[in-house]
Amino acid sequence: MPHALICGAGWAGLNCAQALQERGFTVQVLEKSDRLGGRITTDFVEGFTIDCGFQVVNPSYAALRETVIMEGISSYKLAKGVEIVEGNRIFKVGDPRSDLRFVPDLLSGQFGSISEKIAFLKYLRRATEDKTFGEALADSPKLLANILKPFLDGVVLTDVTLISNRVVRELIHWFIKGNPVLVDGGVGRASEALAAGLDIEFGIEVQSVLPRKVITSNGDFEADEVVVATDPVTASQLLGVEAPKMNYSETWYFDIPEGEVTSKFLRVGGQGPVVNTIALSNVAPSFAPGGRTLLAATTLTAASESSVKNQLAHLWQVATVDWRLLAKREIPYSLPFKAPRSELASDLKINGVWCAGDWRNLPSQQGALLSGKVVANSISFYR
Ligand SMILES: Cc1cc2nc3c(=O)[nH]c(=O)nc-3n(C[C@H](O)[C@H](O)[C@H](O)COP(=O)(O)OP(=O)(O)OC[C@H]3O[C@@H](n4cnc5c(N)ncnc54)[C@H](O)[C@@H]3O)c2cc1C
Repeated sequence: MPHALICGAGWAGLNCAQALQERGFTVQVLEKSDRLGGRITTDFVEGFTIDCGFQVVNPSYAALRETVIMEGISSYKLAKGVEIVEGNRIFKVGDPRSDLRFVPDLLSGQFGSISEKIAFLKYLRRATEDKTFGEALADSPKLLANILKPFLDGVVLTDVTLISNRVVRELIHWFIKGNPVLVDGGVGRASEALAAGLDIEFGIEVQSVLPRKVITSNGDFEADEVVVATDPVTASQLLGVEAPKMNYSETWYFDIPEGEVTSKFLRVGGQGPVVNTIALSNVAPSFAPGGRTLLAATTLTAASESSVKNQLAHLWQVATVDWRLLAKREIPYSLPFKAPRSELASDLKINGVWCAGDWRNLPSQQGALLSGKVVANSISFYR
C-alpha cells in the first residue's frame, strides 16, 4: 500500500488525508500543535463556547457537502442579513427571499439608487475582468460603501475593496446559495468529525520537506507522497517561496447579562475598530450558561478594550462599561490576502512537493477543503 505523509491537521490536510485513505493509502498526519483543526478550533471557558474567532459554517459549500460531516452535527441557522447602524438608525438588509422584512430598507436610497442596485445584480451575473472589488463596483458606490463593505470586510478580514473581485464574487455566490450556521458545541466539532478515523501524530513540527521525506522535531519520516498543508506562512518557508500577505484579526468575547442585547443579527457600522458584532448565544443558546449572553466583536487591527467597548455601546445602544471581557483571540495569520490577478486555483506542487491549503484556492473553509481534495485526486491519478 502506498504511504502518504500530510503535514498539518487543518481542514486542507484532514480532507486530503481522508480522500487518500479512502483510496487505499496508509496515511499519517503530522501536526505541530496538540490539537486538530488549525484555524477551526473551539475552547470552553467558564461554560461559554469560544471559537477561535467568529466563524460560521456554510453547509452549502460544495467541498463541505462532499464530506457529509455536517449531517451528524446539530447547528443553528443565522439570519441571512445584517443590521447596519448609521447614526442612531438601524437598517436591516439581507436576502429578501429569506425574509420580506429586508425589503423596505433594501429599497431605501441610503443604499443607492435603483440603477446602482441593478448594476450590482448584473455584476453578480457575469464574470468580469479581475480587478479590485472596489473597482468592479464603481457603478454602485453607495451600495458598496453602506452595505457591502461594512459586511464583507468582516468576511474577508481586510478592506474588501482592495482584494480580487473574483474572490469576493465567489464568496457572495456561496452566501446566496447557502444559509450559514453556528455549530452546536462550537466549530471545532466539525474539525473533529473531519478527522474521524485518521492517524494524527501531535506535537511534531515539520522542519523541512522533500518529495518523499519529511524532517521533523521528532526525527525523519519517509513516504511515497508528501503533502504540505500547514498554514500559508509556514508552508511558504518549507517550500522555499515568498509567503503570501496575511490578514490580521482579533475576536473579543464578552460575558453580558441575558436580555441586554436581544438581536439575533450580525451588526455592523459605527466609528471604531469593530467590523462586526453578534450576540452568539441569542442564535446558539448552548454557547452561554443560563442567564448570560455571549457576545463577540471582531476587529482587523490590534484594538484597546475601551475603544471596542465604546463602539459596542453605540452599536448596541446600551452601556458596556461593566461588560466582562471573557476571552480574546488574536490571529496574526487569519486569511491570505488575495490581490487581483492572483491565482484562485494555484499549482498543486511547489518545487516538486504537493501543497494544499486555503492560500492555494479560495481563502475559506471551502478553499481549504477543495485544495486538499484536489491534491489527493491528483496523487491517486498519477499513481
Ligand atoms: C477568525 C476567522 C474566521 C473565519 N471565518 C470563516 C468563515 O466564517 N467561513 C469560512 O469559510 N472560512 C472562515 N475562515 C477561514 C478558514 O478558517 C480557513 O480558510 C481554513 O481554516 C484554513 O485551513 P487550512 O487547513 O488551509 O490551514 P490551517 O487551518 O491554518 O491549518 C494548518 C495546520 O498546520 C499546522 N502546522 C503549522 N506549521 C506546522 C509544522 N511546521 N508542522 C506540522 N504542522 C504544522 C497548524 O498547527 C494547523 O493545524 C476564518 C478564519 C479565521 C481566522
